[in-house]
Amino acid sequence: MGVTHEIGKWNYMDHIELIPKKFRTGAARRRFKRQFGTCFICENPLDMTTNRDHFIPRAQGGHGAWKNCVLTHERCNNMKGNTIPTIPYLVKFKMVTGRWPITWAGGLEDIYSKKELELAEKIYDKIHNANGDGATNIRGRSYEGLE
Ligand SMILES: [Zn+2]
Repeated sequence: MGVTHEIGKWNYMDHIELIPKKFRTGAARRRFKRQFGTCFICENPLDMTTNRDHFIPRAQGGHGAWKNCVLTHERCNNMKGNTIPTIPYLVKFKMVTGRWPITWAGGLEDIYSKKELELAEKIYDKIHNANGDGATNIRGRSYEGLE
Protein backbone atom coordinates (compact mmCIF):
# COMPACT_ATOMS: atom_id res chain seq x y z
CA MET A 1 0.00 0.00 0.00
CA GLY A 2 1.04 3.55 -0.48
CA VAL A 3 2.86 3.08 -3.78
CA THR A 4 1.34 5.62 -6.13
CA HIS A 5 4.06 5.99 -8.74
CA GLU A 6 4.39 2.49 -10.20
CA ILE A 7 5.79 2.51 -13.73
CA GLY A 8 3.43 -0.44 -14.32
CA LYS A 9 0.49 1.99 -14.28
CA TRP A 10 1.86 3.63 -17.44
CA ASN A 11 -0.64 2.81 -20.16
CA TYR A 12 1.81 2.72 -23.05
CA MET A 13 -0.81 2.22 -25.77
CA ASP A 14 -2.26 5.63 -24.87
CA HIS A 15 1.13 7.11 -25.72
CA ILE A 16 1.79 5.60 -29.13
CA GLU A 17 1.63 9.15 -30.52
CA LEU A 18 5.00 9.72 -28.84
CA ILE A 19 6.68 7.73 -31.64
CA PRO A 20 6.93 8.64 -35.35
CA LYS A 21 3.72 8.12 -37.34
CA LYS A 22 5.27 5.45 -39.60
CA PHE A 23 5.60 3.12 -36.58
CA ARG A 24 2.03 3.47 -35.31
CA THR A 25 0.38 0.86 -37.57
CA GLY A 26 0.80 -2.74 -38.68
CA ALA A 27 3.84 -4.77 -37.68
CA ALA A 28 5.53 -1.78 -36.03
CA ARG A 29 2.45 -1.22 -33.84
CA ARG A 30 2.51 -4.88 -32.80
CA ARG A 31 6.20 -4.53 -31.86
CA PHE A 32 5.39 -1.39 -29.87
CA LYS A 33 2.70 -3.34 -28.01
CA ARG A 34 4.87 -6.38 -27.33
CA GLN A 35 7.70 -4.12 -26.15
CA PHE A 36 5.28 -2.31 -23.80
CA GLY A 37 6.15 0.96 -25.48
CA THR A 38 9.78 0.63 -24.40
CA CYS A 39 13.10 0.43 -26.25
CA PHE A 40 14.24 -3.16 -26.87
CA ILE A 41 17.76 -2.26 -25.76
CA CYS A 42 17.50 0.15 -22.80
CA GLU A 43 13.83 -0.47 -21.87
CA ASN A 44 13.09 3.22 -21.36
CA PRO A 45 9.94 4.59 -23.05
CA LEU A 46 10.21 5.04 -26.81
CA ASP A 47 10.06 8.59 -28.18
CA MET A 48 10.28 10.55 -31.45
CA THR A 49 13.81 9.20 -32.02
CA THR A 50 12.36 5.69 -32.37
CA ASN A 51 14.23 3.57 -34.91
CA ARG A 52 13.60 0.26 -36.60
CA ASP A 53 16.54 -1.87 -35.50
CA HIS A 54 17.47 -4.89 -37.59
CA PHE A 55 18.24 -7.32 -34.76
CA ILE A 56 20.68 -9.37 -36.83
CA PRO A 57 22.29 -6.45 -38.73
CA ARG A 58 21.69 -6.43 -42.47
CA ALA A 59 25.46 -6.17 -42.94
CA GLN A 60 25.72 -9.54 -41.16
CA GLY A 61 23.02 -11.21 -43.23
CA GLY A 62 19.99 -10.15 -41.19
CA HIS A 63 16.63 -10.04 -43.01
CA GLY A 64 14.92 -6.74 -43.85
CA ALA A 65 11.49 -7.94 -42.65
CA TRP A 66 9.88 -7.07 -39.33
CA LYS A 67 10.48 -10.70 -38.32
CA ASN A 68 14.07 -9.52 -37.74
CA CYS A 69 13.25 -6.10 -36.29
CA VAL A 70 12.59 -4.39 -32.99
CA LEU A 71 11.98 -0.79 -31.97
CA THR A 72 14.82 1.09 -30.28
CA HIS A 73 15.88 4.65 -29.62
CA GLU A 74 18.09 6.08 -32.35
CA ARG A 75 21.00 6.44 -29.88
CA CYS A 76 20.63 2.81 -28.73
CA ASN A 77 20.52 1.58 -32.33
CA ASN A 78 23.61 3.65 -33.16
CA MET A 79 25.47 2.29 -30.15
CA LYS A 80 24.67 -1.26 -31.23
CA GLY A 81 25.82 -0.55 -34.78
CA ASN A 82 26.55 -3.67 -36.82
CA THR A 83 27.40 -5.88 -33.87
CA ILE A 84 25.74 -9.27 -33.52
CA PRO A 85 23.58 -9.39 -30.39
CA THR A 86 24.75 -11.57 -27.50
CA ILE A 87 22.89 -14.75 -26.49
CA PRO A 88 20.85 -13.10 -23.70
CA TYR A 89 19.56 -10.56 -26.25
CA LEU A 90 18.79 -13.38 -28.69
CA VAL A 91 16.67 -15.07 -25.99
CA LYS A 92 15.03 -11.73 -25.20
CA PHE A 93 14.20 -11.29 -28.91
CA LYS A 94 12.27 -14.56 -28.84
CA MET A 95 10.51 -13.65 -25.59
CA VAL A 96 9.41 -10.30 -27.01
CA THR A 97 8.53 -11.34 -30.55
CA GLY A 98 7.59 -14.99 -30.05
CA ARG A 99 10.11 -16.17 -32.67
CA TRP A 100 13.80 -16.33 -33.46
CA PRO A 101 15.09 -13.59 -35.80
CA ILE A 102 15.51 -14.40 -39.48
CA THR A 103 18.35 -13.95 -41.96
CA TRP A 104 18.39 -13.93 -45.76
CA ALA A 105 20.05 -17.35 -45.57
CA GLY A 106 17.12 -18.62 -43.53
CA GLY A 107 18.60 -19.86 -40.28
CA LEU A 108 20.94 -18.50 -37.66
CA GLU A 109 23.67 -21.10 -38.24
CA ASP A 110 25.86 -18.61 -40.12
CA ILE A 111 25.54 -16.10 -37.26
CA TYR A 112 25.92 -18.13 -34.07
CA SER A 113 27.77 -21.37 -33.32
CA LYS A 114 25.83 -24.59 -32.74
CA LYS A 115 26.78 -24.40 -29.07
CA GLU A 116 25.46 -20.83 -28.77
CA LEU A 117 22.15 -21.73 -30.44
CA GLU A 118 21.70 -24.75 -28.16
CA LEU A 119 22.38 -22.52 -25.16
CA ALA A 120 19.84 -19.96 -26.38
CA GLU A 121 17.18 -22.69 -26.82
CA LYS A 122 17.97 -24.07 -23.38
CA ILE A 123 17.68 -20.67 -21.67
CA TYR A 124 14.49 -19.84 -23.55
CA ASP A 125 12.91 -23.20 -22.65
CA LYS A 126 13.90 -22.78 -19.03
CA ILE A 127 12.28 -19.34 -18.81
CA HIS A 128 9.27 -20.42 -20.84
CA ASN A 129 8.68 -23.60 -18.83
CA ALA A 130 9.05 -21.73 -15.56
CA ASN A 131 6.49 -19.14 -16.57
CA GLY A 132 4.32 -21.04 -19.05
CA ASP A 133 2.54 -18.88 -21.55
CA GLY A 134 2.60 -16.15 -18.96
CA ALA A 135 6.32 -15.50 -19.54
CA THR A 136 7.14 -12.03 -18.33
CA ASN A 137 9.68 -9.45 -19.34
CA ILE A 138 12.33 -8.00 -17.07
CA ARG A 139 9.77 -5.70 -15.46
CA GLY A 140 7.39 -8.53 -14.69
CA ARG A 141 4.90 -7.74 -17.40
CA SER A 142 3.13 -10.71 -18.95
CA TYR A 143 3.29 -11.50 -22.65
CA GLU A 144 0.13 -13.56 -22.35
CA GLY A 145 -2.65 -12.60 -24.72
CA LEU A 146 -0.46 -10.41 -26.91
CA GLU A 147 -0.50 -10.91 -30.68
ZN1 LIG B 1 16.91 2.86 -25.81
